[in-house]
Amino acid sequence: MQNKIKRIGVMTSGGDAPGMNAAIRAVVRTALYHQIEVFGIMRGYQGMIDDDIFQMDSRSVANIIQRGGTILKSARCKEFMEPAGRKKAYDNLRKHEIDGLVIIGGDGSFRGACVFSSEFDIPCIGLAGTIDKDISGTDFTIGFDTAVNTAVDAIDKIRDTMDAHDRIFIIEVMGRDAGYIALHSGIATGAENILIPERKTDINNIIQSLQEKERRKKMVNLIVVAEGDDFGGANEVQKILEENLPKSEIRVCILGHIQRGGSPSCMDRVLASRMGYHAVECLIEGRHNVFVGIQNNKMNYVPLETAVKNKGKIGEEWMKIVKILAS
Ligand code: ADP
Repeated sequence: MQNKIKRIGVMTSGGDAPGMNAAIRAVVRTALYHQIEVFGIMRGYQGMIDDDIFQMDSRSVANIIQRGGTILKSARCKEFMEPAGRKKAYDNLRKHEIDGLVIIGGDGSFRGACVFSSEFDIPCIGLAGTIDKDISGTDFTIGFDTAVNTAVDAIDKIRDTMDAHDRIFIIEVMGRDAGYIALHSGIATGAENILIPERKTDINNIIQSLQEKERRKKMVNLIVVAEGDDFGGANEVQKILEENLPKSEIRVCILGHIQRGGSPSCMDRVLASRMGYHAVECLIEGRHNVFVGIQNNKMNYVPLETAVKNKGKIGEEWMKIVKILAS
C-alpha cells in the first residue's frame, strides 16, 4: 500500500502512566525508519491548541525508555471539548503540515481523537496508556504492570510492620472506576479482603470474619481497597470497622501517586514498544481512527468510536480465588 503519510504528530494525553516514554520512543523511531517526519506535541490537546509543537529526531528520544512520566508532558484540556478549540488545534497541525496523529492516553483521550478525526481530515491512532487497565478491547494497557508492581512492593513492606504489631491494615490503591490494581496487588500480597468498584462489598461478612479473628486473637489482616469502592475509600472503611471492632488496632495507608511514577517494568516497556511500532504501521497502511490494544498477545485494533471504559468485568471467580487463598 502506498505511504501517503509524510509528517505525524505524537502526544501524551489525560492521566500519565509509566511506559509512555517508551511508547513515544517507538513511535518516533518507527516513523523515522519509514522516512516520516515526527513532531512532538506538548501537554496533549492543549499543546495542539497553543501550537506547542516541535520537530523530533532519533536523539530526542534517546535514554528515555527507562524513565517514568512523559517527556511530552500530559494535560486535560477543556478547550478541546469545544468546536472552536478543535478548529484552532487543526489549524496549528495544518501549519506544520502534520497529516497523522498518534495519541497515547486513556478512553477520554480516545473520545477526543474520535470527535477530532470525524471533523477534520487528520487520521488518529490511539495507544492504550493508563495505569487502570480499564479500556475495553485490550488485555493490558501501558502503565498497569508498573503501577501494580509498585503497589505490591509497598504492600509487602507494610505487611512486615503489620505483622510485627498485630494490626489490621487497610491499604488504598488507585482505581476510581476500576479495581484491577486492587485485585492484582491484593492477590499478589495475600490480602484477606479486596474491595473494588465493580462488585458490591458485603461489609457485614467482613466484620463478622474480623470479629471471629478478634476472638481467636489473630489480628493480622490485610484489606486492599480501590479508591472508588462502595464506601469511598480506605478512610471510610476504617470508620465502619472501628465502630464494630473496638479492640482492634486499624491503620490506613493510602498509596496515592507513587503508583503513577517510577521506572516502567520490562512488561510495560515491551508493550509500549510494540504498540508504538504498530501505531505507525497503522497510519502507513491506512488503518485509521483506531486504538492499538493487545489481546491474547496479538495486536488488536479497535475503532476509536467504540473506545469505552471496561466496566464491571471482574467475575465471581476472581473473588472466590481471593477468599479461598486467604483463608
Ligand atoms: P484519559 O485519556 O486519561 O481518559 P481524560 O478523560 O481526562 O483522560 O481525557 C483527556 C482529554 O481528552 C480531555 O481533557 C479532553 O481534552 C479530551 N476529551 C475527552 N473527551 C472528549 C470529547 N468528548 N470531546 C473532545 N475532547 C475530549
